[in-house]
Amino acid sequence: MILKEQKFTSEWEDSELFKNTVTLFHNAAQKMNLDPNIAERLKWPKRALVVSVPIRLDDKSIKTFIGYRVQHNMTLGPAKGGVRYHPDVTLSETTALAMLMTFKCAVVGLPLGGAKGGIKCDPTTMSRNELQKLTRRYTSEILSLIGPTKDVPAPDIGTDEQTMAWMMDTYSQEIGFSVPDVVTGKPIEIGGSLGRTEATGRGVVYTVIEAAKYLDISLDENISVIVQGFGKVGASAARKLEKIGCRIVGLSDVTGGIYNPKGIDFEKLSAHLASNGGTLKGYKEAEVVTNSELLEQKCDILVPSAVSKQITEKNADKIKCRIIAEGANGPTTVEADKIINERNIFVIPDIVANAGGVTVSYFEWVQGIQKLFWTEKEVNNRLWNIMSETFRRVLQTVQEEKTDMRTAAYIAGIRRLSKAMLWRGFWP
Ligand code: NAD
Repeated sequence: MILKEQKFTSEWEDSELFKNTVTLFHNAAQKMNLDPNIAERLKWPKRALVVSVPIRLDDKSIKTFIGYRVQHNMTLGPAKGGVRYHPDVTLSETTALAMLMTFKCAVVGLPLGGAKGGIKCDPTTMSRNELQKLTRRYTSEILSLIGPTKDVPAPDIGTDEQTMAWMMDTYSQEIGFSVPDVVTGKPIEIGGSLGRTEATGRGVVYTVIEAAKYLDISLDENISVIVQGFGKVGASAARKLEKIGCRIVGLSDVTGGIYNPKGIDFEKLSAHLASNGGTLKGYKEAEVVTNSELLEQKCDILVPSAVSKQITEKNADKIKCRIIAEGANGPTTVEADKIINERNIFVIPDIVANAGGVTVSYFEWVQGIQKLFWTEKEVNNRLWNIMSETFRRVLQTVQEEKTDMRTAAYIAGIRRLSKAMLWRGFWP
């Protein structure tokens, strides 16, 4: 089967991340000989909503932000995906991220589809009051799309459990009764799940453990780790990797990076973060590097956990690690991927490595619907089972299809999804 060459013509398609994601999908579709009709359906989102989000700022002026909610595919169940507050948010990038969510839920085996939302803004310059207004107005604008059986948002870059609490409250106020299951990643007190905050980072580490087993690497102090992006995902992955005995030699956030080949002392780092507004800037016990310099430092395990397009054809041949575990969504471009594969660096692709977040979001949703809550141990054990089983299934696909981990992950996800699409059929 020959799929038609991709031509990118609409506004949905004009970001690098969209082109990247569709190309990866296309490569996997070719390799697995996917029915071209399924391919045609999957490269488009089901629907996208663009909304204005006007709010009164603290200086009393009114400012309008642009927000999006994109649902890529809902064949397997309600759509699921985070809400991002970042200056680079666009319709096309949100669409690509929604598509990644579809494949992620499918490869993990969750009964969920893929969505993503976002607002183009810089939350680091906004007050709590402004962020609350922004979140509530955005929620009210996308109200018709979301709901526990329709589309369930969660945190992503620039949003957190407080954002989810405001979303849940706004939705509930509008509907007339409490609906905790409209979002996941919410505080425990209003129906959140134990273990959700660290779930994505924890899941990254679970896949690293599986990769190390496969590559016969023992995870001890001889194993050096660099984590780009010290946010919800990066910080929990770094802390857990340090806890299991690895040496964390480099970290970064939006203010820049720090590097110390002897290892970063987490006690000193925590004290620094506490007195510096949570940023790494000014940390004295390490060399200061830029985000791009950090990626090129020698280490065994590199965990990009910030934004997309960080590993490109410009730096892919300078990266010196054995394993890349993609905490972030889309951190590696297609061109870089080729170079990384030729260099035999083992890649745990985003849709596998960072799937712990959506998996525990699914657990939160299930617990909420049943009104029966699990212990943290139970959550983590179930997460371990799903992450390790997903990793092994993808590895098996690598061997069966004689391909790389990323293509195999896409193939495993698309296989499950396309079977479901064929059962459901095409209508009208
Ligand atoms: P976050 O906002 O908590 O943290 C983001 C981190 O990246 C911060 O340290 C920030 O300073 C840094 N950063 C922002 N812009 C940057 C830039 N241009 N260069 C370098 N660093 C930059 O966000 P998060 O939830 O940890 O998400 C990080 C990544 O993980 C994203 O790609 C997100 O889509 C992905 N992800 C998140 C979850 C989740 O559950 N939160 C789940 C799956 C995937």
